[in-house]
Amino acid sequence: MYDNNNVFAKIIKGEISCEKVYEDDDVLFFKDINPKAKIHILGIPKVKCVDLVDFISNYDEKTISNFFKTTNNVIKKLELNKGGYRVVSNSGINGRQEVPHFHIHILGGEILD
Ligand code: 5GP
Repeated sequence: MYDNNNVFAKIIKGEISCEKVYEDDDVLFFKDINPKAKIHILGIPKVKCVDLVDFISNYDEKTISNFFKTTNNVIKKLELNKGGYRVVSNSGINGRQEVPHFHIHILGGEILD
């Protein structure tokens, strides 16, 4: 069940501010408040979904492909593809997901642990 008051839902609604890297009507990419690498970006679709499986199972192909194509564009815009990067998406208790709105972490800018 999606929690309408989770932190990222509030960021989408503009109730909590963030440092935006890219935004359009469907997606938002912004800096993680507690970066685990020199560059640490979070990417979210604006639809209500709790994790990767929820997103891909319940939304249409255009919405899904747009999100991942924008991920590609953000990685290239930040030139992370030159030195390499990591993309991670945590889910649920075992995945230690903190915020129950589907998101990807894009990490890079240095050699990662
Ligand atoms: P998760 O563990 O759910 O995959 O990751 C959630 C991420 O969201 C964490 O890396 C955390 O630092 C980040 N985060 C939590 N609250 C905020 C916030 O209010 N603003 C921003 N920019 N990032 C947040």
